[in-house]
Amino acid sequence: MLPTARIALNRPLRRLFDYLVPEGLTLQPGQRVKIPFGRQQAIGLVVETEVEPPQGITLKPIQTALEDWPALPEETFRLLSWASDYYQHPLGECLFTALPPALRRGRPAAEKQEDWWQACGSSAALPANAYKQKNLLDWIAQHEKGVKSSAVTKAGFTRAQLKALHQKELVRLAKPEASLPGQQTYTSTTAAPELSPAQTEAMEQLPTPAEGFSASLLYGITGSGKTEIYLHYLKQHLTSDGQALVLVPEINLTPQTVARFKRYFGERILVWHSALNDSERLNAWLKIRNGEPVILIGTRSAVLLPFTSLETLIVDEEHDNSYKQGEGFRYSGRDVAVYRAHLNQCPVILGSATPSLESYHNALTGKYRLIKLEERAGKAQSPTISLLDIRSRPLEGGLSRPALKALKQTLDSGNQALVFVNRRGYAPVMMCFDCGHMVECPRCDTRLTYHRRDRAMRCHHCDFQAPATDTCPKCKSDAFKPVGQGTERTEDILASCFPDTPVVRVDRDSTQRKGSIQNILEQVNTGKPCILVGTQMLAKGHDFPNVTLVVVINADGGLFSVDFRAPEQLVQTLLQVSGRAGRGTKAGNVVVQTCHSDHPLLRTLCNGRYLDMADQLLEERESGQFPPFRAMAIFRAEADTMEQSLQILDSIKPLTNVPGIETWGPLPALIARRADRHRAQLVLNTDNRMRLNKLLTGICQTLEQKRFPKGAKWMIDVDPQETG
Ligand code: ADP
Ligand code: ZN
Ligand code: ZN
Repeated sequence: MLPTARIALNRPLRRLFDYLVPEGLTLQPGQRVKIPFGRQQAIGLVVETEVEPPQGITLKPIQTALEDWPALPEETFRLLSWASDYYQHPLGECLFTALPPALRRGRPAAEKQEDWWQACGSSAALPANAYKQKNLLDWIAQHEKGVKSSAVTKAGFTRAQLKALHQKELVRLAKPEASLPGQQTYTSTTAAPELSPAQTEAMEQLPTPAEGFSASLLYGITGSGKTEIYLHYLKQHLTSDGQALVLVPEINLTPQTVARFKRYFGERILVWHSALNDSERLNAWLKIRNGEPVILIGTRSAVLLPFTSLETLIVDEEHDNSYKQGEGFRYSGRDVAVYRAHLNQCPVILGSATPSLESYHNALTGKYRLIKLEERAGKAQSPTISLLDIRSRPLEGGLSRPALKALKQTLDSGNQALVFVNRRGYAPVMMCFDCGHMVECPRCDTRLTYHRRDRAMRCHHCDFQAPATDTCPKCKSDAFKPVGQGTERTEDILASCFPDTPVVRVDRDSTQRKGSIQNILEQVNTGKPCILVGTQMLAKGHDFPNVTLVVVINADGGLFSVDFRAPEQLVQTLLQVSGRAGRGTKAGNVVVQTCHSDHPLLRTLCNGRYLDMADQLLEERESGQFPPFRAMAIFRAEADTMEQSLQILDSIKPLTNVPGIETWGPLPALIARRADRHRAQLVLNTDNRMRLNKLLTGICQTLEQKRFPKGAKWMIDVDPQETG
């Protein structure tokens, strides 16, 4: 009788599959195998060996193992099993998230060497009209040691152009520049600046890896030098064989951070983010799995990678929403990092100038150590924040006279300014002043945003787009006007008020092209007077030493939202964006325009002390019985009709009838219809997380057996970030 193994597949199924283990094959959990599945083959991951085979069923044998070692080592495997249970997501899909796409498809786990090209001929040999090939050849010739194929496409050339040059024997394949993995020597290059006394004190309070597991919340105001502390901490505590993970919200927005780490740790720095291609991903994955002593700087999913000797985890800007995956396996990268540190018995440092209420609460209750850094590094001072009530002031493109005056003074004295607008596009609404019509998305319950640059009306919730019109589509009146502010509109106003100053817009539209954010940042870094206009993107970790004024066009968005997290996010964004002012030697000012200058939260904002606001917000959370005082999960449903969605949730509700579990709903979601799908939700709230977890496991198993109308879907979101 052959032994039986239990296999997980990369499918949204809450079950595993049993297979016979052929003679001569020894397997261990985490190993990749090829199995027959239906009429096809599939790649699976071994979950258990030596399982009791089910009675009365003939099992098929496993075809082969893809490696004789587990792709997911034990600790990674345990981490993902825990996450599958905690977030109620099928184990197979969780496990496969830790593999690069190439390995999910069954490719061999071997380093894929990219082709390297060197120039070996002169562009004079090319016909005069082949100017693109000529440019490419000149560009390759500039790189003495050669260039990678991927660098060619990244630089804007095509593979066809490269192939043409190869055929004409003007370029040749060369040996790669980098040495093979495992042979690299890791040397640190430059020394970081010495820590200030305040930084040193904070650093000394951080538990060392020798103390085993510890979770610390490093609360350091914007510009206090947290990144510098991470660098010193790793330098001091990471052993020469050890691996470290530094999680960041979005790498592309802050290339400066990676550059700073590289300056300090050189080749030891490895990056992980969504813009890597398949072979870059595979190669990085292999280095980590092979236990190379890398310091990985990565976005959310990096926390799931198969490290083998992880010694320290750092989560920078730990409050950032992008740590929570919004679909599929809805894990929080930050929270998984804390659990991983626990598994590894090593430290995790959560850093932020505006900590999440969850982490701050954990610090107050003693679960995390709280370390405060309340002065700015170097010569910089904290900015002065003032509220500007705009209720009875005339506005020009959303800007009041005093704000425009402050901008003028800033530019006149040779400094830079930043204007924060929370919406991209020209205006959030187009409205007819004759019939009152507002243009809505035909597929969602939202209005279309007017994008003047492309003369388009766009939905920011689905991909709907229509040409903009000059007259009202309903009554043909030409009293059809934009209402409200978007970044494009503010950019226009500023350009007309300050014709001699460059106005640089930073939002998702202006930074879509690869490298454009870098170009924008370079322009700002010249230090010449300019005005930056942009969305949240500008609030993220940038270091602009010459920005001395920040203007917030309108602070009121999140003050009266139904989402219980909205005020927290508002305060975090306002303080983060304020933190861009006065980071150099010159003092910074922040002007916050609002219609609610007497709102208690905004008043506290002016003293710039985030923890005061956090205390205030925590009180509200406690009295409203919201997280972090309670555990929350949301069942969501979407279907072709609202009736179907509500029916699904109505069928779940009786199952939640357990003491200690409170339910709200089912109710239509805030945006009830999105891309023609009707969405509803059922919220579960409790003070007993264990009981909730057990209950959810049971309900999900039940739901998986049920049949719902075609196209109808249910989802579970544990610790939801969006609750609208
Ligand atoms: P944070 O991560 O808290 O926003 P950074 O580490 O980016 O802060 O530091 C903010 C600025 O202060 C950076 O320009 C950094 O180079 C500088 N800085 C940090 N620590 C020191 C120090 N000890 N001496 C001088 N400058 C420093
Ligand atoms: Zn009209
Ligand atoms: Zn839409």
